[in-house]
Amino acid sequence: MTALKGIAASPGVVLGRVFVYTMPRLEAVESRCHACHRCAWFGCEAGVEVGEGSVAEAELKVLHDGIAAARDQLENLVERVRAERGDDLAEVFEGHLEILTDEGLDEEMSAAIVERKLCAYGAIREGIEHQRNEFLALEDEYLRERADDLADIGRRLLYATAGVPFMSLGDIPEGVIIVARDLTPSDTAQLDPSRVGGFAVETGGRTSHTAIMARTLELPAVVGCVGILDAAQHALEGKGELVLDGGKGEVVFNPSDAEITQFEQRRAAYLADREAMLALASLPATTRDGQTVMLGVNIGTPADASAAIPWNPDGVGLYRSEFLFMDQPTLPTEDQQFKAYATVAKVMKGKPVILRTLDVGGDKPVAAIPFPEEDNPFLGWRGVRMCLYAEEGNQGVLRTQLRAALRAAAEGDVWVMYPMISAYEEVLAIKALLAEVQAELHAQGKRYGQVKTGIMVETPGAAMIADKLAEIVDFFSIGSNDLTQYTLAADRGNQQIARCYQTFHPAVWRLVAEVIKAGKARGIPVGMCGELAGIEEAALPLLGLGLDEYSMSAQSLPRIKRIIRAASMDQACAAAQAVLQAHTAAEAHAVAHAAMRAVLE
Ligand code: PEP
Ligand code: MG
Repeated sequence: MTALKGIAASPGVVLGRVFVYTMPRLEAVESRCHACHRCAWFGCEAGVEVGEGSVAEAELKVLHDGIAAARDQLENLVERVRAERGDDLAEVFEGHLEILTDEGLDEEMSAAIVERKLCAYGAIREGIEHQRNEFLALEDEYLRERADDLADIGRRLLYATAGVPFMSLGDIPEGVIIVARDLTPSDTAQLDPSRVGGFAVETGGRTSHTAIMARTLELPAVVGCVGILDAAQHALEGKGELVLDGGKGEVVFNPSDAEITQFEQRRAAYLADREAMLALASLPATTRDGQTVMLGVNIGTPADASAAIPWNPDGVGLYRSEFLFMDQPTLPTEDQQFKAYATVAKVMKGKPVILRTLDVGGDKPVAAIPFPEEDNPFLGWRGVRMCLYAEEGNQGVLRTQLRAALRAAAEGDVWVMYPMISAYEEVLAIKALLAEVQAELHAQGKRYGQVKTGIMVETPGAAMIADKLAEIVDFFSIGSNDLTQYTLAADRGNQQIARCYQTFHPAVWRLVAEVIKAGKARGIPVGMCGELAGIEEAALPLLGLGLDEYSMSAQSLPRIKRIIRAASMDQACAAAQAVLQAHTAAEAHAVAHAAMRAVLE
């Protein structure tokens, strides 16, 4: 057996077979494009000239080899899936096969190479996009929904064309534990949490997006587990089994019988605790002296919203809309977005849904949007900057999203929130854009609703001018994950400097205190949707500082509620003051921990 320790990312104890996942990102695959190396958004904007004679023939061969490889994969997949998971899922992949081998699609892609001098990759992107639009224009709802399949087919074809074996997390064997270098949010979005035991990855910290997704999906996970890929390969030479304790950050490969017994006891204890927590779901988050706060849930997809319902959240405090955009060769249409947002609004039955506009860049690339090479992506083309400062194309992305959000607001209580704000004028620009989009919908006679407008306070710059920003928005939500990373100049996903990324650093807390104070002075609600909101030790000091709303992964809700219900405001205020007066993160954490223990006793 080999035991490794990583960072505890998401609680739960599982035993399963090891599944090593080594899929390069779509962006990386496309840089293999031998013709231009810069196959940009829908077609070769780099201006490849491949139409003449042998080059066109070479590109046609690349395309047809790619189609043949993708077809072989799908045929094998249909057989395997039929045997393992039945006819229904097999039919889905049969549908993919039919679209992939459609003569019309082949002719269209070939013509793009020969007549318009695109390389094979550009031709695939264009062909897939065109087919998808054709499906979207159909009357029949079932066929219209097949448009979503085109993204999958396009991805498979691009990988096959690059000669990279395609591994999908959507159809992996049941009960496995995934081991990978990293999982992108789009990888995790493909996971069916009911089929996967959990995952362990080499990179990332507690607030990396991989860890956040694990908590959202309620999948036990360990991140920042150095050496796990090698250990997993080694384990596959033996039984290939793994036990993982996501609450403790521990993994053991090929465990002995005694270790399995021990993990089974831990698992039983974890499940009993979960049941006890579920019993708190119907109670309000009210202190002993009658102060009530809102407890919202963080989600990435409509399915996450439904999964959160048993935990009875007061709303969605953060809907990370970017998951709809990730790892698709094409951008989601307005209607696709509307459908997703309206579904969440309806699932929440009139409770507020805070929809965050597209927040990509940093560790969240999107294949359908060209990103520049950056030395410091977290300080770069990220979040609202990408939408606002971009050439028309990307403003179009935000416009489309706002149209979808406003239309969804007619189906529930949708609030719109903007990420990565660092300047006052950015908020003014966004508000002007929102007003334009609203006027456009009005002129077109479209049904839409009113939305509240808020911002994430996640840069120190925004935190320090929070008093001014509070004059022009309806609410704040503190993004403590990024606020910590930017305040302490410590990359949140870099396992090597995980010790510098100190959530309890007094500097972070002082900024949090100022933001809440600024919101209160202006009478707007202040929430927190970063991971700090779901940390038990933080619950009391945040309450004492006057936080109105906490938003977190669903399973953290009862733990925070339990603390709030046991506390009085006096205790909370004392805890807040003690944290603000601490010299170090360790001291702040210690006083917060002691205060929490005192109220729970
Ligand atoms: C944050 O930064 O705290 C936040 C909630 O946003 P994200 O984790 O998606 O960057
Ligand atoms: Mg953020």
